[in-house]
Amino acid sequence: MRLRIGNLPLWLDEPDERLRSRAAERLGVPEGKLGTIRVVRRSLDARKKGKPRHLLSVDVELPDELGLGSLPEGVQPVPDDPPPPPRAARDHRPPVIVGAGPAGLFAALGLLERGVRTVLVERGRPVGPRRRDVAKLFRAGELDPESNMNFGEGGAGAYTDGKLGTRIGHPAVRKVVETFARYGEQKGLGRILVEAKPHVGSDALPCAVEGLREELVANGVEIRWESRVVDLLVDQAGRCRGVALAGGGAIESDRVILAPGNSGRELFELFARRGWGVSAKPFAVGFRVEHPQALIDEIQYGSAAGHPKLPPADYKLAENPRLGAAPPRGVFSFCMCPGGIVVPTPTEAGLLCTNGMSNSHRSSRFANAGLVVAVSPEDFAREGFTGPLAGLEWQRRWERAAYELGGGGYRAPAMRLTDYLAGAPRAALGATSYRPGLVLADLTRLFPDVVRRGLIEALRGFERKMRGFVTSEALLIGVESRTSSPVRIERGEGLQSVAVPGLYPCGEGAGYAGGIVSSAVDGLKVAQAIGQELS
Ligand SMILES: Cc1cc2nc3c(=O)[nH]c(=O)nc-3n(C[C@H](O)[C@H](O)[C@H](O)COP(=O)(O)OP(=O)(O)OC[C@H]3O[C@@H](n4cnc5c(N)ncnc54)[C@H](O)[C@@H]3O)c2cc1C
Repeated sequence: MRLRIGNLPLWLDEPDERLRSRAAERLGVPEGKLGTIRVVRRSLDARKKGKPRHLLSVDVELPDELGLGSLPEGVQPVPDDPPPPPRAARDHRPPVIVGAGPAGLFAALGLLERGVRTVLVERGRPVGPRRRDVAKLFRAGELDPESNMNFGEGGAGAYTDGKLGTRIGHPAVRKVVETFARYGEQKGLGRILVEAKPHVGSDALPCAVEGLREELVANGVEIRWESRVVDLLVDQAGRCRGVALAGGGAIESDRVILAPGNSGRELFELFARRGWGVSAKPFAVGFRVEHPQALIDEIQYGSAAGHPKLPPADYKLAENPRLGAAPPRGVFSFCMCPGGIVVPTPTEAGLLCTNGMSNSHRSSRFANAGLVVAVSPEDFAREGFTGPLAGLEWQRRWERAAYELGGGGYRAPAMRLTDYLAGAPRAALGATSYRPGLVLADLTRLFPDVVRRGLIEALRGFERKMRGFVTSEALLIGVESRTSSPVRIERGEGLQSVAVPGLYPCGEGAGYAGGIVSSAVDGLKVAQAIGQELS
């Protein structure tokens, strides 16, 4: 019999061997009766300042004859592996997938497991050469609009922090983490199988993406690099029959999965022009905040900060301040990167936005996170932006303003957090991880007043939760504007577009996911829907 025991405590200075006696105690059996023990989940419990501990879940073998009767609390039988998906039976032309981000790659994988080969069309370059394009942006402030932090193999997911956390509770979440672990094995990614907050890092992610791609190609998936989709082929009945490419080519197919990510702006414009079921949706905007990592460690770990078994500390903050008579507004930290760097993530010339990333060791001496305020179509309308592209045009407006405030070359405007609260940039900027560099600027001029007031109100609450968070040592860097897609491409039955049957809007760009894992899961869900149709 195999049992899973949840949340066995282990103090930082205790060896893993102590788990055996703790597991035996929990089960109420002699230690000698336990077979092999395998750690399946490890989390850090730092709620008690100065006394953090690990909580581990383990799988343990027990002789059947032990017959425990009813299982103690927190103990359950180890679940069986799910059966493989059924194979597609009907004849079909290979589906086309637009975008080789997590959604597109996992859609290709999910379909391949059902015996369906696909054609993957990606505007950017493979993840190797893409690295050089990204480096040019960091070093020289030169943007390649086709190959950058958002576009290219692996999508926005390739050069990220690579946190594989998600709030969705879908059963396929585990499969996504296992897939990254399998293809990133040579970079030691086996560890993410047990981490409660799995983190890959942008030094290891490209390797996992490459491994997954090699497997796809070896099994018959065709990939077209540097091929931008500019239109859909639609027959007289209004059904999708393929895609048109920049430069004049086309690929015919009866099924197109559209997974262009939240920066696939030309496609959003195309859909709005053609009236193909696109609408504006809420997202969140604000700034990146950057602290010294040592300061965040001190706040979170107390006197235990610096212990060699403790990772750079993270945080997650949220407040819902009331601004006047309006309903409470969500303000929260977003995509927090311990030991990370702040990076430029634009895709269009003359517009600037930022995000955060880190390597697998999280070795930078800085911690950063988005500090963002929820905004909605009502906010866009107040400034005269209406219609399906209201959010996109509003995003562009503030990304342009940020670029200009930074003085060009993708230098980012920044000021000290305490100066933002005081309403004007006073002190010179301190050290930062951001390249190609910061420019002291008045960030209070960016975004409408609700964003500024929302941030100021919420920062009071953040400081109550994390004493020392609001400090002149922290820099605010502008702007964080692409927290999720500004549009939704409506889908209905069988996950097909409500406007164009045969089209499957997918992932973050279509408005159905946010983050690497949920986008990948959405790709798997679309693969399942197409698999069912073909079986
Ligand atoms: C710097 C950074 C750090 C991040 N950190 C994290 C993190 O730690 N954890 C997390 O969960 N999420 C993180 N994210 C968000 C995450 O990367 C995205 O949520 C996720 O990649 C979305 O997946 P997707 O497949 O839907 O879209 P994308 O990953 O955006 O992929 C879309 C792909 O479509 C291609 N494409 C677009 N238009 C066309 C076209 N017309 N023709 C052909 N191809 C096209 C693009 O080139 C791109 O490769 C981060 C994002 C960034 C930018």
